[in-house]
Amino acid sequence: MNEKGQIAPATIAAFAAIVGKDHVFFAEEDQASYQDKFAIDDARHHPAGAVAPATVDEIQAIVRIASDRGIALWPISRGKNLGYGGSAPLLAGSVVLDLSRMKKIDYDEANGTVLLEPGVGFYDLYDFLKSKGMKHWLSVPGNSWGSVVGNALDRGMGYTPYGEHATRICGIEAVMADGLVVRTGMGALDGAPTWQLYRFGFGPGWDQMFVQSNFGIVTKMGLWLMPAPESLMGMDLEFERPEDLGPLIDAIAPLRREGLLQQSPTIGNWLRAAAVVTTRDQWTDKPGALPDDVIAAIRKKFNVGWWGVSLRLYGRESVNKAAYAILEQELGKLKPMSLRPTVWKTGEPLEATGWTGTPLTMPMQNANWHGGRGGHIGFSPILPQSGAAAQAQFQRTYARYKEYGMDYQASFAFGERHLINVNAVLINKDDPDLMGRVDPFLKHLIADAKAQGYGEYRTHLDYMDAVAGTYDFNKGALGQLNRKVKDALDPKGVIAPGKSGIWPSSHAGGQG
Ligand code: ADP
Repeated sequence: MNEKGQIAPATIAAFAAIVGKDHVFFAEEDQASYQDKFAIDDARHHPAGAVAPATVDEIQAIVRIASDRGIALWPISRGKNLGYGGSAPLLAGSVVLDLSRMKKIDYDEANGTVLLEPGVGFYDLYDFLKSKGMKHWLSVPGNSWGSVVGNALDRGMGYTPYGEHATRICGIEAVMADGLVVRTGMGALDGAPTWQLYRFGFGPGWDQMFVQSNFGIVTKMGLWLMPAPESLMGMDLEFERPEDLGPLIDAIAPLRREGLLQQSPTIGNWLRAAAVVTTRDQWTDKPGALPDDVIAAIRKKFNVGWWGVSLRLYGRESVNKAAYAILEQELGKLKPMSLRPTVWKTGEPLEATGWTGTPLTMPMQNANWHGGRGGHIGFSPILPQSGAAAQAQFQRTYARYKEYGMDYQASFAFGERHLINVNAVLINKDDPDLMGRVDPFLKHLIADAKAQGYGEYRTHLDYMDAVAGTYDFNKGALGQLNRKVKDALDPKGVIAPGKSGIWPSSHAGGQG
């Protein structure tokens, strides 16, 4: 790499000799196509180019060249990590290692598992399972444009009982920075038929070490799939007032913990439909956070409450019917504004939604809310499953949205024991006034959460150091551990330096 962040022609030729000249991308328009379309500052994460291998051998050869010539690689699976950096590297001048050509699917129908290469998209896997008679369902994220492997590696979420994607991983193959190919769990035992069946193997379990890290390049991932249920039942509920959030969380949380509800419901506010099917200028031409009269007009048009939530039950029909009666009784106590039941049984036509594991891209239309070069950036702290804590976090965050003149779009998504408060900050890169407020706003939100003892579960490239810095127990001991591991495995920082705030000691540019 020279001082302008360009890769030497000899290095590009060396990459081309490995992958073929059609799979190296270093022209200006190639760099632009791998940029983060939603970045606050395009230059900060500008890639030097990209190289797209098709095999593990090719990845090993690329890693060796990168290591010898001091080049940082940024592995992506399909690079659709929108809101968190897309396909762009954290460190400008890195070479994107684009794994989207690797699309092999191994399906173990009897055990309900797949072994996937990184380029397999949610649509690919859906089409594949459909061609096999849909005996297993997918869990898809709200925007299902991306890679199944990439999404699980960044702890993406879906809506079915298998919605916490990182916890469904069973067995990984990875290329390390020194070129070593490793298989985790039972995969370490050559020829074991149990690689995708038992997560831990013998000794330490390393699957999760590759999640949200920069310790290796994942080339294969085992995943468990949900057996197609006989029945799907549930209800869509709307609630009238902002203060209905706390009681709603306190009603759902015990049902989730005891396992009556096995999927993870998401409580969302009034903007969720409007931001997808309309644009802001259809509602108002005034700057600043949307006022109450506009919120009322949006709610009237879409017939939604301040908050809405969908609950779903999966499995045997008789069990779902019994569980549904309990849901009806418990949620009915809250006097929702509306309660719409939904029922499906094997053989009936299936609605294409996140709850049926059908890939969708429509939700990302909210990037167009402001028009122009639109986008969104996430702010997602983890909270305890407490109505009082969530209500207080909502009030704090909503007050900040108003202070910074931002339109409030938020959700509170259940895990088994936690809540993720996903806030979308809707942006327009053609509006300098709005863009000028985004960075101070996000930094304020991170600091507000930290003051409560809350940290984010995932963040945009721009905030990885800041969020890692909030994990400060014992003078940042966890960060020190991460750095020691990075130094041991990848002292030169060949793989994704800076990802999740993890820098090797050799990178002065990294967090101190
Ligand atoms: P998606 O297309 O599902 O959104 P991405 O390909 O954008 O997923 O991956 C999300 C993030 O996960 C990337 O920015 C990168 O940091 C990491 N990542 C993706 N694929 C790999 C991989 N095969 N090995 C290591 N890290 C990866």
